[in-house]
Amino acid sequence: MTTPRHDFAQDSDRAPRLLLLGGTSEARALSERLAREPGVQAVVSLAGRTRAPLASPLPTRVGGFGGVEGLRRYLVDNGVDRVIDATHPFAEQISANAREACAALDIPLAVLAREPWRRAEGDRWVEVSDMAAAVAALGSSPRRVFLTIGRLSVPAFRAAPQHQYLVRSIEPPEPEELPPSCELILARGPFSREDEIHLMRERQIDALVTKNSGGPLTYAKIEAARALSLETIVVMPPGAQAESRLENLEAALDFARAKRPA
Ligand code: NAP
Repeated sequence: MTTPRHDFAQDSDRAPRLLLLGGTSEARALSERLAREPGVQAVVSLAGRTRAPLASPLPTRVGGFGGVEGLRRYLVDNGVDRVIDATHPFAEQISANAREACAALDIPLAVLAREPWRRAEGDRWVEVSDMAAAVAALGSSPRRVFLTIGRLSVPAFRAAPQHQYLVRSIEPPEPEELPPSCELILARGPFSREDEIHLMRERQIDALVTKNSGGPLTYAKIEAARALSLETIVVMPPGAQAESRLENLEAALDFARAKRPA
């Protein structure tokens, strides 16, 4: 039998325990606020995809839980009272696992989600539902394509080697995951609209591929593509779920502070 892991302080008269599923700027902003909340014990959970994540002001655990069953066990072993899912809109699996595990244990779960970007006047969007459709939408004639989709989604574009790619990611994909004709830029946003316009002009980009991740931090590329009248292949987020959605950080803090039932 394995000994349960305890990421939370083990005192008897304790503040409510919150598990914050993170990996986003929203989770980070909420962590900073929670670190100043004496009435809440919070632990952040990261998948471990980023090899050098930014330092967190809260205790942090890293790595998968081992599916729904692993997450369920973690919640029980650590006496977690509430869960906030502040993962990326495209991180479908962990959100589904959180829904299932919390429902099974009757633990309140809320989602701190971003609004997706909406098409504005001047945008030349082609909306698609997944990366395979984004690859197909580029067509068969060679183009100069800017990929800002996260390193894990880059391998899909090996299926269209006729294009020349500019790939931007925080950490490098493995060399064998890159399309053959490819320039790699390693950078962590946010980026300004002017810098995005400059980059797209300088590299003579004629199509941008992006996830519709929502939020302000990575929106400048959308504005730049609009200013340059570039075709933008937009992978739309998976459908919104019905669980309790938190509008903003204040609502998330109220949810985190709620007392446990006696
Ligand atoms: P995913 O497909 O939903 O999750 C795959 C597996 O990774 C999950 O089943 C879980 O493993 C583990 N996992 C994911 N998020 C976790 C977390 N916060 N804490 C502990 N384990 C986690 O997720 P993904 O798309 O690979 O994204 C991974 C992480 O990167 C997420 O936390 C997300 O917020 C962040 N992120 C994703 C994107 C994106 O475009 N997908 C962009 C920016 C940031 P087990 O089943 O073993 O528990």
